Amino acid sequence: HLSNRLQVVADFVQPGARLADIGSDHAYLPVHLAKQGVISAAIAGEVVKGPYHNALTEIENEQLTAVITARLANGLEAIQPEDHIDTVTIAGMGGTLITNILENGKSHLTHHERLILQPNVGEDNVRRWLQDNRYQIIAERILAEDGHIYEIIVADPTDQAVSYTAVELKYGPFLLQEKSPVLQQKWRREQARLDEVIATMKQAKNAPQEKIAAFTQERDQIQEVIL
Ligand code: SAM
Repeated sequence: HLSNRLQVVADFVQPGARLADIGSDHAYLPVHLAKQGVISAAIAGEVVKGPYHNALTEIENEQLTAVITARLANGLEAIQPEDHIDTVTIAGMGGTLITNILENGKSHLTHHERLILQPNVGEDNVRRWLQDNRYQIIAERILAEDGHIYEIIVADPTDQAVSYTAVELKYGPFLLQEKSPVLQQKWRREQARLDEVIATMKQAKNAPQEKIAAFTQERDQIQEVIL
């Protein structure tokens, strides 16, 4: 069965979807969705040979070769027009990598796909890319598992201009509204990290004052907005 993290990603895949799971590793997500009868087809994209072979093996073992195709490809290059993909999942990577994959592979999207993204860090980069590319965030989730805190961002294409405030980009428009205990835990951790950085800088002989001021402002913003 899936990790809670991937289960939340799976929950946003709609029945009958044609899915491209980019960075699929063992293809656990498409295999699970195919076994549950949720998806009608899937591509499991991998750029590294080891994980690609893991995906192939998993798909064969589960006898799902008719539903899921593993492809060795960089990012969205795994998607071909004749796949008629309508849902893209990219999970378990840094937000910068996810953003690069989306930006570099834009030409492989039709702007009709739902994007379900799970950055491990750097969520603000992902939200900014969505905003700049006319994707409206329709849902966000945050969860703790095995000592890590994960965010899931779900976005649908729109013709309207999309605009989030700096605070929404950083913390997440829906997560801000909800202000769950897990969100507070995440930012309390970040605040503690900033406190350490600030303390270390203050002890240093010639720490730049403007940097200390910037970190302090960041720290105080967390206090105001989240806690
Ligand atoms: N998506 C799975 C999950 O969430 O559990 C696996 C996450 S794993 C940590 C990240 C995977 O992304 C690795 O298998 C890596 O090879 C793959 N990857 C990294 N960059 C990629 C790219 N540009 N295109 C396709 N796959 C990529």
